Amino acid sequence: MSTLAFITGANKGIGFEVARQLGATGIIVLIGARDKGRADAAVAALKKEGISAHAVEIDVNNEASIIAAAKKIGEDHGRIDILVNNAGIMTEMAAGTRPKDLSLETLKQTFDTNVFGAFAVIKHFVPLLKKSRAPRIINVSSTLGSLTAMSDRAHPMHGVNFAAYNSSKTALNALTVALAKDLAADRISVNSVCPGWVKTDMGGEGAPREVAQGAGIIVTLATSGNPPTGTFIDENGSVPW
Ligand code: NAP
Repeated sequence: MSTLAFITGANKGIGFEVARQLGATGIIVLIGARDKGRADAAVAALKKEGISAHAVEIDVNNEASIIAAAKKIGEDHGRIDILVNNAGIMTEMAAGTRPKDLSLETLKQTFDTNVFGAFAVIKHFVPLLKKSRAPRIINVSSTLGSLTAMSDRAHPMHGVNFAAYNSSKTALNALTVALAKDLAADRISVNSVCPGWVKTDMGGEGAPREVAQGAGIIVTLATSGNPPTGTFIDENGSVPW
């Protein structure tokens, strides 16, 4: 029986590369994207590499769309084994917004996608995960969400002071902790990961890491025979909360 992975925001960037790397191991990848054309293009590119990929329309800001995506996957595949909550936004970097100048609208939009969207996806996909023999949820977070790192003047990311994005990843990590405890009874592991600063549309050209490196820790956790739960990790191990 093939393993099934569902990845949100998989039409480009880290999500697409996670799909590519998981697909290369023989896992069937369900490509979550909010735009059908972008989802189909990603699926076509993966199929060219011999990967079994299927498009799933999902806008994580729209609960009806999340419910519809879960229903469709349930009808087509019956379950999922791996959920990668990857879809995310960061609008402050381009704008160079300082916390004191942040608009409430930007804060709300960021939480809508990075926190409420990720939560809603988990909520509506747990029934499909419960049908798996080794179910797992991977929340794609960031060291920018680490209160310990961000309050450490010596940390290399200390100056990246984006109130909306950083606090959204802190909140996502809090959801990881709460859900890991709750879903242990269902054998579902829940972890937060940081891919590092990666060259993508979000990370920008100046990022030091390639997308293949960023995807690595997510793929490792997705394919681990015995994943931890309730942790926040990057490729070097534990990240402080
Ligand atoms: P990216 O290239 O901008 O890709 C983001 C993906 O999320 C796109 O597929 C985008 O879809 C999708 N998305 C955004 N809003 C969505 C919504 N409402 N519904 C469904 N999909 C939505 O960014 P990335 O660098 O690959 O980031 C992926 C994840 O890694 C994010 O959670 C990010 O916070 C995290 N991360 C990135 C870095 C980095 O340096 N790049 C570092 C740490 C963590 P569209 O194409 O339709 O916009």
